[in-house]
Amino acid sequence: MAELLIIYTGGTIGMVPGPTGLQPGQGVLEAALAPRLPAGQRVRVERFDPLVDSANIGPADWNRMLDLIEAADCTGVIVVHGTDTMAYTGAALSSALPDLAVPVVLCGAMVPLGQGGDAEGNLDLALSAAQGAPGVWLAFAGKVMPAAGLVKHDSHAADAFRSHPQGPFRTPARRFADRRLAVLTLTPGVSAQAIEAMLATLDGAVLRVFGAGTMMANPALGAVLHAAVARGCRLRAVSQCEAGGLEPAAYAAGAGLWAAGVENGGTETPELALARLWLGLS
Ligand code: ASP
Repeated sequence: MAELLIIYTGGTIGMVPGPTGLQPGQGVLEAALAPRLPAGQRVRVERFDPLVDSANIGPADWNRMLDLIEAADCTGVIVVHGTDTMAYTGAALSSALPDLAVPVVLCGAMVPLGQGGDAEGNLDLALSAAQGAPGVWLAFAGKVMPAAGLVKHDSHAADAFRSHPQGPFRTPARRFADRRLAVLTLTPGVSAQAIEAMLATLDGAVLRVFGAGTMMANPALGAVLHAAVARGCRLRAVSQCEAGGLEPAAYAAGAGLWAAGVENGGTETPELALARLWLGLS
């Protein structure tokens, strides 16, 4: 039987109580995995050392996952990962692996293994999805969802994720280069100087703008955005609404964004816009 690759990064699923809260535990996942594998299933576990809370996952980790996935001779991959940045990793792997021949299934849980919560069910679902269709997926709370447009919408409930459909994306870049990017949120009253100070440190940014694509009538802010784009800082707008996306021509209050050269992220989640922008700059 062909090999299953498990990339174990950490996350609540394998955590145990520690002095300051839940922290990665040794051998928790491996103990739960062994009795669940079909007879004869060959498995290779690539384990992050140390295992991490997903708050610590970043572009270098996405590159490491991509290296492992692309080098593997396997029929499926399970990436065990914390839920807090699952949507970022789902967006990153989906964007960098558009032509996958095997399933890559993200797996995590809201409650650790062995505590009567969601972990065992999510692991079983991931093991079954890893024998299914190619692509990048999240197996969570009984659903197998495309990982490109994930939103973690609940910080406690077992049904913590939904996935918004996303269009295709093509880029020659397959790894995340050493660039400076961030997601910035426009808020009522924010000053042009504050946005300028942030943009001065960045090669690109996702701008969470209002509604269908508007911003405040602040000429100084428009000038800051224009100057950033003119010096090569790529700006990509997404909506602060979870669903629906942008409609650039809908409101006069959006005209300043597009005139400044801000890109239209359409229906992208902030996580997906960040991953795509990052690859675009890589
Ligand atoms: N803080 C945890 C993490 O993201 C939460 C989880 O896994 O559910 O690693």
